[in-house]
Amino acid sequence: MSSDDTSSFANRLITWQRVHGRNDLPWQNTRDAYRIWLSEIMLQQTQVTTVLPYYARFLERFPDVLSLAQAPDDDVMAYWAGLGYYSRARNLHRAAQQVVGQHGGHFPPSVDLLVALPGVGRSTAAAIAAFAYDVIAPILDGNVKRVLARHAAVEGFPGVSAVEKKLWFEAETRLPTSAKNMVAYTQGLMDLGATICVRSDPRCLLCPIAADCAARISGRVDEIPAARPSKVVPHRAQSYLLLTHADQILLVKRPAPGIWGGLWCLPEIGADEDAEVAAHIRHGASGSNHPVMLPPIAHAFTHFRLTLNIAHLSADCVEPRAMQPGAMWIARSELAKAALPKPISRLLASYPATLSKAAAGS
Ligand code: SF4
Repeated sequence: MSSDDTSSFANRLITWQRVHGRNDLPWQNTRDAYRIWLSEIMLQQTQVTTVLPYYARFLERFPDVLSLAQAPDDDVMAYWAGLGYYSRARNLHRAAQQVVGQHGGHFPPSVDLLVALPGVGRSTAAAIAAFAYDVIAPILDGNVKRVLARHAAVEGFPGVSAVEKKLWFEAETRLPTSAKNMVAYTQGLMDLGATICVRSDPRCLLCPIAADCAARISGRVDEIPAARPSKVVPHRAQSYLLLTHADQILLVKRPAPGIWGGLWCLPEIGADEDAEVAAHIRHGASGSNHPVMLPPIAHAFTHFRLTLNIAHLSADCVEPRAMQPGAMWIARSELAKAALPKPISRLLASYPATLSKAAAGS
């Protein structure tokens, strides 16, 4: 692609973005790298509409990088709970501490330094640098991969590293020459992927780069980019204890890394383990009624499916000193303050109605 074509791609996109792009999202129209960084991390694998309320609540509690760096882990996890991909929250916290400790509380204006922060990949670093500092650097998130794969007719699944390498090359060659256009250009690529060049039935008639889009010209829009090669999603089952005492519920903190790392969850037990014995030995709970099995809960992670088998036990008395470290009893009325995985939070929100149903069915 010649430099003329390159500037033509960029110029069409920039002009289109200013008229038709999204210009009123809460993380736009700011040069505050903290707010931009936060939005970029929240938007990874997550829809804009899902992110909006989390972004507002998070900023209200942590208005700047210093307040985030100084916050306790539990607070950060509580404000992230429900957004998923919890390693993002742990990395966010560590990155804030690095920005404060190593960069004097200012996000560095360089892609190389930004990419050294935990949880910040090359594309995220480029987006932060472009939006906050007008740095000319290419982005390549999932939507942008689709746009470029179609425009340049890049074959293969973009998750394969050889295909991704070609897409980075295409992203480099299309960059604008002037730094002053980087905000509109970067936003334009994101907007085009999210609103026009969508996965199914892209709106090519409205597309500013349709004239030289190779996939459209060759009638292969439906074939490019290639779909993810299909594979069987593994399944796991895990047993948990819902241990209650009066109005209190026992929670344990999940280790990080691992699924739901850093969140509060029901204690795990072995599939063949006796729930009453586990409750007594590990958590100092005794005098309980027989366990009631709740209806199994199915939950999908990116790489596997999990079935949660939950036994409910209501203890007459508890011996706090016999509890495992990292466990706590929490009143139902306080549950909203704890960072809980989504399926556990849903279950406890409907408790004790869930228990009555399970008891009626048993
Ligand atoms: S012309 Fe169609 S397929 Fe090509 S980039 Fe535009 S919306 Fe996507």
